[in-house]
Amino acid sequence: MQEKIRQLLKDFVAIPSISCTREEIKAAEFVQDYFADLPYFREYPEHFGLYNIPDDPYDRKVPYAFLKGNSDNTVVLMGHFDVVSVEDYGEAIPLAFSMGKELEDALSKKIMPPEARKDMESGEFEWGRGVMDMKAGVVVFMALMEDYAKQAQAGTLPGNIVFLGVPDEESYSAGMRAGVTVLSEFKDRYGLRLNLMIDGEPCPEAKDGEMILTIGSIGKILPVVMVQGVTAHSGNRFNGITPLSILTRMEQKTDESLIFMNSYKGDASMPPSWLNLRDMKRGYDVSIPFRAYGYLTVLSFTDTPDQIMAELKRIANESFEEAVDALDRMYQQFKKANVYQLKDKMYYEPLVLSIDELVEKLKGEKGAEFDAFYERARSKAESKVLSGELNYPDATVTLMEDLLNYADIKQPLVLIGFAPPYYPAINSDLMPGHEGCGEKLFEEIAGFMKDQFGRGLAMQYYSPGVSDMSYSGLDHEFDTGAYSKNTPIWGKTYSIDFKSLANLNMPCIILGPIGKDAHQWTERLLKKSVYEEAPAVNKFIIDKYMAESL
Ligand SMILES: [Zn+2]
Repeated sequence: MQEKIRQLLKDFVAIPSISCTREEIKAAEFVQDYFADLPYFREYPEHFGLYNIPDDPYDRKVPYAFLKGNSDNTVVLMGHFDVVSVEDYGEAIPLAFSMGKELEDALSKKIMPPEARKDMESGEFEWGRGVMDMKAGVVVFMALMEDYAKQAQAGTLPGNIVFLGVPDEESYSAGMRAGVTVLSEFKDRYGLRLNLMIDGEPCPEAKDGEMILTIGSIGKILPVVMVQGVTAHSGNRFNGITPLSILTRMEQKTDESLIFMNSYKGDASMPPSWLNLRDMKRGYDVSIPFRAYGYLTVLSFTDTPDQIMAELKRIANESFEEAVDALDRMYQQFKKANVYQLKDKMYYEPLVLSIDELVEKLKGEKGAEFDAFYERARSKAESKVLSGELNYPDATVTLMEDLLNYADIKQPLVLIGFAPPYYPAINSDLMPGHEGCGEKLFEEIAGFMKDQFGRGLAMQYYSPGVSDMSYSGLDHEFDTGAYSKNTPIWGKTYSIDFKSLANLNMPCIILGPIGKDAHQWTERLLKKSVYEEAPAVNKFIIDKYMAESL
């Protein structure tokens, strides 16, 4: 098994399947070819294949394989095979995908952080792009599938196993979002009881060589805020109001605040960050900008899109009123010094709209004419996304601007929507019908690791970087329409199959081999963990939950 895993890993790493490239197709075919050679899949060719991701700009595919056993208990094994780019390997770039001595020699010549140097000298690690994040996890599952396929063919497999390999995890999770539909169809067709999904992402190492088990994943949403002011010549600036005064207040009230922080058993979600903030003037002139926008990433454990929208609208209203008040206070002072100022007061009625509200308003006013306009605008933005000309946030900004131009509202306003991607938060302990199962799994895995390998285990409720685990089920109910209706690019190029997601409702854990420094040139994988511990502990858990429910 060890030699098989090593050779498979080396061959798999050699495919430079950088996220959002066509090389991801080759990695999918590598997995498919492996299963094609197994006698079980020659006997049941309908149990494996490549699922084409609909409307994917790179024509990427999701390889899947299904082993049918003697009960409805089912374990899902999932992993991504895309990797991040390799610029940071410097001179060693040409070797980044060649696991082995030549790459290690090249890396050794560099100035290394002390811990990496120590690990290099120990000889206990494999090096290279994608070894730990996360081709190792995928390969461990493939090797285990080969063994279980023999049992399935002999009619002795106690339950079912579904394997899913996914592209695009490092970008927008197109692979796992398509995987949700594949899994849901399998579930319904074969009447599967989905006990558990294991994500083979690497397990981080805590103090004293402890391994960290993760039983959930943080949620992430990307609200986009567009503010329209009233433009004016800066020589007569009290004829207008700058959108920047409203938008920057919103930025300060969120970027420097714990409003969106959720906490859970000693863990807390990171406060939001604005990823950009800018006015929309195309060139230089002496006018106050007409519009400005920004988008922020909001991380959470429990907040739902409708709650986040409501909170942002409240903050927008407050910012609007404060900006107008501040402008008026300044104007009243200025008036005392400048006799040409004839206005009594500076005042603008606050107007804050979600995209859903604006769309409904325009539909009500213009009916079919608006529908036709919006359909055209959306399909134009979609084709720009598909051609790579616009990313999702920029396409969302474009559509928001199109909507405001069409609406032609002659007063300042704030418009709030969402841009992809969206990752719902998930915590196996909270999964309806499986409450507390994360802690139960922790106890079992901790016992096994201690007995078999003398390795300690620590637990983390939420993976702090987003992950594909977000698409294993919904651990709390929310109005999914509140997301889709406020996401103008929702549809052809980006969607989440919420119905299937609720149908899956699987607890999930991350149980891949131990690795260090994901996304860095010092990315490395602990040999003992990938060749011995990860296969053994995964087999232990798969054996258990393909025989009984969790
Ligand atoms: Zn990963």
